[in-house]
Amino acid sequence: MSVDRKKLTALLQWYVQEVGKDLIAVIVVNREGLILDSISGKDSQKSVDEEIVGGVSALVEPVLTRITKEFSSGAFGTGTFDTEDYRLIFCEAGPDAVFVTVLDAVAMIDPVFPYAYLTAEKIARIFDGRTVSPVIPKIISRGEGKDISRKKDTLQRIKIQSGEYAYKLILGGEGGVGKTSMVHRFVEGKYETDYKSTIGTSIMKKECEFDGLSSKVRFVIWDLAGQSQFKRVRMTYVENAEAGILVYDVTRNETFENLEGWHKEIKTASPNISLILVGNKIDLEGDREVSREQGQEMAEKLGLSYIETSAKTGENINDAFKMLALQIIKRFVVTEDI
Ligand code: GDP
Repeated sequence: MSVDRKKLTALLQWYVQEVGKDLIAVIVVNREGLILDSISGKDSQKSVDEEIVGGVSALVEPVLTRITKEFSSGAFGTGTFDTEDYRLIFCEAGPDAVFVTVLDAVAMIDPVFPYAYLTAEKIARIFDGRTVSPVIPKIISRGEGKDISRKKDTLQRIKIQSGEYAYKLILGGEGGVGKTSMVHRFVEGKYETDYKSTIGTSIMKKECEFDGLSSKVRFVIWDLAGQSQFKRVRMTYVENAEAGILVYDVTRNETFENLEGWHKEIKTASPNISLILVGNKIDLEGDREVSREQGQEMAEKLGLSYIETSAKTGENINDAFKMLALQIIKRFVVTEDI
């Protein structure tokens, strides 16, 4: 099996950087429990801290033996394990590997879990030799109360109970930032130039599936033009939405300026909405007016996760929607001792 090691390491470095201070190490192991790659969290830019990884792998070994057993029966999926000093998240990464995140004992699992899952899925793609962008969305987490409880020395399988419900998804942001193009790209996997500016609302459906989680998220996507003359229509549009994407165009500063206004309007109409911030049109890098750092700062200010996309090339479009779906199903996480 030839694995693109460079890509794997780049992905792990990105992940380590995004998860931040609570991360002790990440380890990718194969079915036999052999370490395929590992990075320690304290200083990911430098070489791997052998001592930490060595210590941690000794610690996870007995757990891994159990997991690889469960795993080969195809039943494992995603789970957690707590020890005196650490909290571990295990995610199946395709048929060949398990992705292990080692967090500090005081860390919350809940904010990290969607990213661990997304990363595991990318690792699976790297092992399959499929294309994958080594980028994971910026993690912004406001403590949302409940978390997977700490249970020492117990392997807990993560399950999702979201049922068959479909979620209303809306897009916010100024006209011309690429909302309609993003939706079309996501729904049909293609990009067309010259969409007519939408006057009414078009409604599309799309499911997001999750390997190993036995759960789907169904989105009912409402697409509407962002122009302010439709303010009245816009009110009913943003009401009762469970999911939302707030979009701006990285090549036009004026689309970045009123994000707080948009955020307020959406949150007022749908207080419990799961929302992410997206900077679109990154294929036009030479015309960029808003830097990635500015985007991240804004996301932090609004308490939203952040990702940059191109509806034109398709880069990160699926990840943006998937990220949102994972934020939603995170609310329906239950655990089962195994
Ligand atoms: P909306 O008004 O926010 O729904 O924006 P549209 O989806 O209608 O897009 C506005 C214009 O931007 C169209 O001409 C699209 O072809 C173009 N566009 C959308 N996304 C991208 C992108 O990622 N890159 C580039 N270069 N153009 C884009």
